[in-house]
Amino acid sequence: MVSKIGTKDKKGALFIVSAPSGAGKTTLCKAVRNRFPDIGYSVSHTTREPREGEKDGIDYHFITTDDFEKKIRQGKWAEWARVHGNYYGTSADFLNRCMDSGQDILLDIDVQGMRQITAGFPDSITFFIMPPTLEVLRERIETRGTDTKEVIERRIKNARAEMDLRHLYRHVVVNNQLDAAIAELATLIASYR
Ligand code: 5GP
Repeated sequence: MVSKIGTKDKKGALFIVSAPSGAGKTTLCKAVRNRFPDIGYSVSHTTREPREGEKDGIDYHFITTDDFEKKIRQGKWAEWARVHGNYYGTSADFLNRCMDSGQDILLDIDVQGMRQITAGFPDSITFFIMPPTLEVLRERIETRGTDTKEVIERRIKNARAEMDLRHLYRHVVVNNQLDAAIAELATLIASYR
């Protein structure tokens, strides 16, 4: 069960960014958030273990599987999905608060989440970040050094499947050269504000 969001007339824009892991999305989203500090950022909830350096409440809200499943039953998620064997979800309360105050929001979610949000909000502006090649993606995931061999293979398999769905997005940004990709994404976002 997912919660209905956006109850008032005056609504902010929803910017959705998806990418296979290793495409540089986190770096791109951080740059966009620095460029547009007035855009609200939805910190997702997840049941996966924090990576080194990740902080609870900043990178994710890290919660238990029991807690996550309870919130599914209570209809607390605007969208949720299982990605790479873990739960990820967006708080409906947070989205509602931002949207009702007319604030624009940036969501960093996967393809499944994008589909759930755009089903309720077809006006959402969606971006898919592509790595230049699958080889580069593999290299980036491997050099990150945070995942086991099995997890790396699962992420690459998922990446292929996600990239096959990029046509569902309004914009595709290829992250070949980081500065150029940041500029492209920022220009596109600015054009909607
Ligand atoms: P990671 O574990 O590498 O941080 O994220 C794995 C994937 O989960 C990424 O594709 C990311 O976009 C996605 N993700 C993160 N938060 C959410 C969320 O709240 N909902 C959904 N559907 N996907 C999410």
